[in-house]
Amino acid sequence: MENGELQELAMLLSKEEIDQAAIRPAIEQVLIAIGEDPKREGLLDTPDRVARMYVELLEGYRVDPIALVNDALFEEDYDEMVVVRDIEFYSLCELHMLPFIGRAHVAYLPKGRVLGLSKIPRVVDMFARRLQVQERMTRQIAEFINGLLHPLGVAVVVEGLHLCATMRGVKKHDARMTTSAMLGAFRTHLATRQEFLENISRGSNPVL
Ligand SMILES: [Zn+2]
Repeated sequence: MENGELQELAMLLSKEEIDQAAIRPAIEQVLIAIGEDPKREGLLDTPDRVARMYVELLEGYRVDPIALVNDALFEEDYDEMVVVRDIEFYSLCELHMLPFIGRAHVAYLPKGRVLGLSKIPRVVDMFARRLQVQERMTRQIAEFINGLLHPLGVAVVVEGLHLCATMRGVKKHDARMTTSAMLGAFRTHLATRQEFLENISRGSNPVL
């Protein structure tokens, strides 16, 4: 596939670094607004720490998808389902900028092309380390792998625990969410989908 197409699927937003110098005074303003004293000892370095934290937690916008998959694409005749399950992820919900965390399960049915196994968690990370909604993240992971490998099908299931729901006392059952994206054979063939769903349910523990 064209590199440009890959860039588009990864939705590379910016090559510019996150503007830490702009975040610091903004966080100081938040501290003042909630009635805190940003000059007290415990908070003195907080704006700087928060700025550096966002650089890390939101680095997914700046991952170069071509460098990410480089040297890990192989032409292979292997045609059985590839499943990578229980991939831990940490993301921030875009509604509250609070964490949602959990596990992603990714599968695809190769058609002449495979991706090195260690890269699949990195694809998940690329999309998790942004301001996200779980449904969109799930779809983006599936569409990226689909565009990259042009397999017979891709399946992604994401189980997430949303701290914006648990911490704010919203009903507990709303805090855990499962989302899925099924493409190609996983959408059209019930048996294929079931094979995947049975695989990921075997011996798995609930999120957290
Ligand atoms: Zn939220």
